Amino acid sequence: MSKRRLKKLFSKIVGEDNCWIEEEILASYSYDSYPEEPVLPDIVVRPTHTEQIGEIISLCNKMEIPLTVRGAGTNLSGGTVPLKGGCVLVTTALNRIIEINKDDMFARVEPGVVTQKLANAVEKIGLLYPPDPASMKVSTIGGNVAENSGGLRALKYGVTDRYVMEVKFYDVDGNLVKGGGIPVKLVTGFNLKGLMISSEGLLGVISEVMLRLIPPPQARKTLLIFFDDVIDASSVVSEIILNRILPATLEIMDNFTIKTVEKFHKIGLPNKDALLLIEVDGHPAALEDEYEKIEKICKKYGGEVHIAKSQTERDKLWQARRDALSSLAMLKPTLILEDATVPRSKVPDMMRIIQDVAKKYNLLIGTFGHAGDGNLHPTILTDKRDKEEMERVYQAIDEIFYRTLELGGTLSGEHGIGIAKKKYLEKEIGTGTLKFYQKLKRGLDPKGILNPGKVI
Ligand SMILES: Cc1cc2nc3c(=O)[nH]c(=O)nc-3n(C[C@H](O)[C@H](O)[C@H](O)COP(=O)(O)OP(=O)(O)OC[C@H]3O[C@@H](n4cnc5c(N)ncnc54)[C@H](O)[C@@H]3O)c2cc1C
Repeated sequence: MSKRRLKKLFSKIVGEDNCWIEEEILASYSYDSYPEEPVLPDIVVRPTHTEQIGEIISLCNKMEIPLTVRGAGTNLSGGTVPLKGGCVLVTTALNRIIEINKDDMFARVEPGVVTQKLANAVEKIGLLYPPDPASMKVSTIGGNVAENSGGLRALKYGVTDRYVMEVKFYDVDGNLVKGGGIPVKLVTGFNLKGLMISSEGLLGVISEVMLRLIPPPQARKTLLIFFDDVIDASSVVSEIILNRILPATLEIMDNFTIKTVEKFHKIGLPNKDALLLIEVDGHPAALEDEYEKIEKICKKYGGEVHIAKSQTERDKLWQARRDALSSLAMLKPTLILEDATVPRSKVPDMMRIIQDVAKKYNLLIGTFGHAGDGNLHPTILTDKRDKEEMERVYQAIDEIFYRTLELGGTLSGEHGIGIAKKKYLEKEIGTGTLKFYQKLKRGLDPKGILNPGKVI
């Protein structure tokens, strides 16, 4: 079908001003934060009311037009590259916070609400929405739910799924479906909100989400600890968990990442082999006790402990961690950030494996991440125009993932499967499970129009 005809059809639903077929605009929706080859969609459509989602999806289904849903496009697994062209539905205009309910502590939002905007709005009324992906200034709630995103506080507070109370979504026939609800205990019917969490745009289009809010902690203490040996830093992570201490945040950065953050942001970080950013929070008395135990463990491994003395200093320490990815991205044209996640006792082993892989394949790899969750981000810096180096990069990624699985880990702690990890999926979940995914997908989307070519 010609692009003009397509525009005519979709304009009837969202209006001419919210459909684009111009090549330069299509190009902006042909890629995301994963370095996959761009693929142009045929049309980009931006609904301004959630009901329009149902009409768009049923039109796509009827006409067999592939449909890729996109929030901010910050996913790191190629989830929003429109592999088969067709329609990209962008949710950014569905950005209303519909309700914040103080009494029952929930927020009801449209899928295009930016995570930070929600966090700020609930903070103003003295509540907390804990999931805080490092991309939260731009990522959307729809994307967070569809990827089940984590963040820097996930160790204590969990990832997005812990906060999803209800999801409304449109199925492929354009029917509005609801899973979950307000009651804290709710076991009526199938767990459809669970089905939509981590669904990566393959099973339906999320149109509204109700999220649990919690009271914020009474007090916090933030520590930055420097180590002369990254393996010592990783051993501290395992020992903190072994001692049944649960910090809110337990992040790691290796020497290469520290030096790069310092190079671009001049925070005053010393040239040490590794750092841990740890935050404990809760009742002031409990917090003091946890802090003392952590300090003791860090010192046992030769850590130099610094405590943030003010909110400004805390913000500075956090910024150092949040700047890790953007700083590394400035070094080379192509950045591949992996998401290998291992049992927490295996963090030192994983750190060693990443170091060995970097040497073996002669690659620049900076590692940082949510060490307390066992979720490391080995970040390979390369140039995809250098075919020979890319060959080594792919071999290195294969080795990182296979070794992760050998350690009892998983392919993705938070970034999803998308295109990036599709080829390894069967190895982790097994053939029976993969077939079940495929049956589910065929049952819910028989023509395969929703985000084709991803995950399965
Ligand atoms: C600098 C940086 C830091 C990051 N830090 C973190 C981090 O700390 N933790 C973490 O977990 N991730 C992180 N990410 C990854 C990314 O930000 C998250 O996956 C985020 O949830 C994606 O949100 P988005 O709005 O950009 O979604 P998109 O990238 O637009 O979409 C992601 C997936 O969700 C689907 N989708 C989007 N909206 C809907 C909807 N309404 N209905 C159905 N499916 C939908 C898409 O089809 C796609 O498959 C980071 C990324 C970057 C670039």
